Amino acid sequence: MPIKDKPRPPRFSLFNNILLILAGVFLFVSFILPVFSRPQVPGVPYSLFIHQVQEGDVARVQVGQNQIRFQLKSDEEMGGEQVGQVFSTTPIFDLGLPNLLEEKGVEFAATPPPKNGWVSNALGWIIPPLIFVGIFQFFVRRGGGGGAQGMLSIGKSKAKVYVEGESAKTTFADVAGVDEAKAELVEVVDFLKTPGRYTQIGARIPKGVLLVGPPGTGKTLLAKAVAGEAGVPFFSISGSEFVEMFVGVGSSRVRDLFEQAKKEAPCIVFIDELDAIGKSRSSSGFYGGNDEREQTLNQLLSEMDGFAAEDATVIVLAATNRPEILDPALLRPGRFDRQVLVDRPALSGREAILKIHAQTVKLGEDVDLNAIATRTPGFAGADLANLVNEAALLAARNQRESVAQADFAEAIERVVAGLEKKSRVLNDKEKKIVAYHEVGHAIVGSLMPGSGRVEKISIVSRGMSALGYTLQLPTEDRFLSDETELRGQIATLLGGRSAEEVVFNSITTGASNDLQRATDLAEQMVTTFGMSKILGPLAYEQGSRAMFLNEGVPNPRRMMSEATAEAIDREVKDIVETAHQQALDTLNHNRDILETITMQLLETEALEGKPLHQLLEQVQAAPAI
Ligand code: ADP
Ligand code: MG
Ligand code: ZN
Repeated sequence: MPIKDKPRPPRFSLFNNILLILAGVFLFVSFILPVFSRPQVPGVPYSLFIHQVQEGDVARVQVGQNQIRFQLKSDEEMGGEQVGQVFSTTPIFDLGLPNLLEEKGVEFAATPPPKNGWVSNALGWIIPPLIFVGIFQFFVRRGGGGGAQGMLSIGKSKAKVYVEGESAKTTFADVAGVDEAKAELVEVVDFLKTPGRYTQIGARIPKGVLLVGPPGTGKTLLAKAVAGEAGVPFFSISGSEFVEMFVGVGSSRVRDLFEQAKKEAPCIVFIDELDAIGKSRSSSGFYGGNDEREQTLNQLLSEMDGFAAEDATVIVLAATNRPEILDPALLRPGRFDRQVLVDRPALSGREAILKIHAQTVKLGEDVDLNAIATRTPGFAGADLANLVNEAALLAARNQRESVAQADFAEAIERVVAGLEKKSRVLNDKEKKIVAYHEVGHAIVGSLMPGSGRVEKISIVSRGMSALGYTLQLPTEDRFLSDETELRGQIATLLGGRSAEEVVFNSITTGASNDLQRATDLAEQMVTTFGMSKILGPLAYEQGSRAMFLNEGVPNPRRMMSEATAEAIDREVKDIVETAHQQALDTLNHNRDILETITMQLLETEALEGKPLHQLLEQVQAAPAI
């Protein structure tokens, strides 16, 4: 429902046609004409040519750079009538050739320059630049936004503007399964509808809201719903559209976008795929790795700093599925200081989403949306929308009047196959293991200092590797961690594996990433932070990155004696083992709670917020032995 679209100037095709014709002429004159204008002569190997010269059969030779032509002596010269035959050969580097020809009395000369020389020469100078200009134009045009807008529009933003259409307006009712995110965004709608209420008290209206979550969970949909609910214009542009091959285009697009938006305020600017421009400046490979992206990012930052709440209510919504690579500057106060997690939906959410999308198809009597939701853990909203459509297509193909449960069953299989490994569907046993594992992290984490508050446990698989996850949010900003806290973090990381040990008395492969991180952290404690009593406050690591606490990857060690290396290994092992034991003790001591929470988690697939806090409050520290 794009309503406003820029008028497009007529296609600038005359110039291009002339270019094409000129290019054709050039090609013809320089490559094709010579081939035809020169009579074709049979070619022979160079050795044969030399042989014939030596035999005295050759009358005259024309030596060119790429070709030598020679004419055999005619019968006339030999006493007969016929003109000598002409052959050609490819020259090799042979300085002795003139001498040989001289010796044998052969008439020889260099090839005269081609007759049409000046034409092709002149064209050779004129055409290539023109072709270049043509190619340039072609790219500019593609960059300029689909239509042929000529060179002047390089820097124009390509934002599509949506205005609340009466018929097809997106609202919060179209979005389900992401209740937390919705609750946060209701507030944004309020800002847009009644900014006065906030500014009157002196509250600053937030400028940027970042929607974070895996693909297909409804981030774009939510942004549209915010605009629909608030009834304001909605400028939508994707981060990748800012970045073109020309330096400076991106930043002028940003400027243009915000200029337009300010005119329409209050309104929403939605930047999809923010990571395309917002990549951390330090992570962009070489220093100054991508100038263009950096300039675009800087422009965005300065635009966001530039507009003040009093002159215009422009709220910038952005979406990304890779928050970890965003430049920290984007997340500072006054920019995207609000972050809203849009996660894959849990069981009840999936049912609600199915319900929304099933509204447009005819459902049979036997369809049980709850059962479908149960069978589709890990599906994002877009996958579910796709699923409903696939089922409807199957029903139509089978000439049914309405969609039956069997169609859904088949569609699930298709969608799962199509999803590849994007989200895995776990079997019941795996699900149970993952649940205990995650609850293990949560229980240990809730006791340990310095590992933040456990906000969410989920066994809805996410991404390629994580089958489930436990989300801990720091309760305060921390820049320093002390030894106890680091030990606590290691114990928390081992909590998952320890739970598997406690419950199943066996270990699965799922914990490898946890172990990696725990070991890295322990190694850093010993080699970087000097926290080992035995090894003392020495830095055993090389390199400058050692100063970053959470970098994760240990640096190569300094040159050291074998004995020291062994001592380090022993210390690291000791730290990890102690933490492991601590995790095991905690879990054994809280075995009942482990069971209770896991059962609940298996039922709902995700636990968060207050109910989770209440459950975790019952966890008690194991008595020290
Ligand atoms: P994202 O931007 O997070 O990648 P989209 O918003 O583009 O995902 O979602 C694509 C489509 O999937 C939507 O247009 C909608 O039909 C469906 N969809 C995704 N998430 C939801 C949801 N939470 N509720 C209802 N429909 C959803
Ligand atoms: Mg999207
Ligand atoms: Zn784990």
